[in-house]
Amino acid sequence: MQTPPMGAHVDQLDPVAEARARDAQLSQFFLGDPQGWKGPVVHYAGGAEALRADAEAAGVALYVHAPYVLNVATTNNRIRIPSRKLLQQTVTAAAEIGAKGVIVHGGHVGASDDPAKGFDNWRKAVDQLDAPVPVLIENTAGGANAMARRLDRIARLWEAVQSAEGGDRVGFCLDTCHFHAGGEELAGLVDRVRAITGRIDLVHANDSRDAFDSGADRHTNFGQGSLDPDGVLEVVREAGAPVVVETPGEGHRDDLAFLATAFA
Ligand SMILES: [Zn+2]
Repeated sequence: MQTPPMGAHVDQLDPVAEARARDAQLSQFFLGDPQGWKGPVVHYAGGAEALRADAEAAGVALYVHAPYVLNVATTNNRIRIPSRKLLQQTVTAAAEIGAKGVIVHGGHVGASDDPAKGFDNWRKAVDQLDAPVPVLIENTAGGANAMARRLDRIARLWEAVQSAEGGDRVGFCLDTCHFHAGGEELAGLVDRVRAITGRIDLVHANDSRDAFDSGADRHTNFGQGSLDPDGVLEVVREAGAPVVVETPGEGHRDDLAFLATAFA
């Protein structure tokens, strides 16, 4: 089997140079402040057009991670409405740099809310979105009343999103740390996810500092955490999708070398 493109989550200043420094074929990064509402900013010298051209010339695929503050599922209007706007701005900016996808966390509703409201809010968000670049929904490790922690919820989320106009443009990003900490076993996971989504567009391959089903979202380099290495290799091999490591930078090269053994 051919090795899929692999790379890391990197600083947004020069994602092409960051990929080169890791002998990687892709880079994922934020556009602007991951904790802020101000909207995307392309920091690359020369701007969006130059980044698109330089990445293409270098054979580096670009992925944009949406800000963490974004939660299109919430029943709180003061978060949901700006979240939709920020998602649209991020997708539009991602299209300008020629990105392959925008990764968005599944989000959550309040502890006392009916999760059905959150699934329906996702449907509306997709309905309203003009998405020249696919939105990839990522599973999360925890969060009270999360939309995409365990597979039963992901199945309901997927049903809602697929019923929206443009739902076929929405993809799935599988995070190994988040599934492990969220309480889903890695063995056989790709088949169980595909049975629901029909697709896996990207893998976030991260070890987990915390235990199975802890609900904690703390990534670490492979071999430093609680993930079964064979389970991780099985996921990246079976998914066959591009892979991003979101681990401490000093270990990126070792992490990518470890993941490449899945295809050796
Ligand atoms: Zn992730």
